[in-house]
Amino acid sequence: APRGAAPAPILAPRGAIADDARQLAAGAADLGALRDALNRFEGCALKHTATNLVFADGGPDAEVMFVGEAPGAEEDRKGLPFVGASGRLLDRMLSHIGLDRSDVYISNILNWRPPGNRNPTAAEIAACMPFIERHIQLVAPRVLVLLGGTAAKTLLDRKEGIGRLRGHWYNYTPGDSPGPIDTIATFHPAYLLRSPAQKRGAWLDFLAIKARLNAAR
Ligand code: URA
Repeated sequence: APRGAAPAPILAPRGAIADDARQLAAGAADLGALRDALNRFEGCALKHTATNLVFADGGPDAEVMFVGEAPGAEEDRKGLPFVGASGRLLDRMLSHIGLDRSDVYISNILNWRPPGNRNPTAAEIAACMPFIERHIQLVAPRVLVLLGGTAAKTLLDRKEGIGRLRGHWYNYTPGDSPGPIDTIATFHPAYLLRSPAQKRGAWLDFLAIKARLNAAR
């Protein structure tokens, strides 16, 4: 290669992966088809180190949808999101505002566990973006809650940290949906387990979620 030329790509070009993801996601007419599309998608290598696809928990009629970052070890074993320590804290927070798991829908930015729970790479997040956008479109919740910095920064396309983004309402429009969804960001439960002093902020966010749900009824 000439001096200064860009190194040859090691994987398929990123644009091709994104096109493939967009096409597969857009072609999914319902949640079952979206799960199948993820199983067919070959643009994210995490699939090969993960035990299970962690698609979602909850029913498509839920009024509230939560989006976390990526499955951990227990989620990978069970094929369900938020079933480990973070999930137990999330369940407690839900119960404080009169909700339980059967009232909500839960998924993640990534549907496969990164090995050893390492942080997802920007390329992994970009490859999977069309799927979570379509996922949100299909569930069409009244309220969307982004758990932690990865979900908030990715879907809101913002650079600020979660400490800045949390506690505010956003009009998030997934893909080419007709209208925006009432969206709030809050701390990730795993962060709250490490930094319990931040629970006060999360509590305020959950009260805001409860008020928004009650107001629009
Ligand atoms: N953390 C996440 O972000 N998602 C899960 O499903 C579990 C832990």
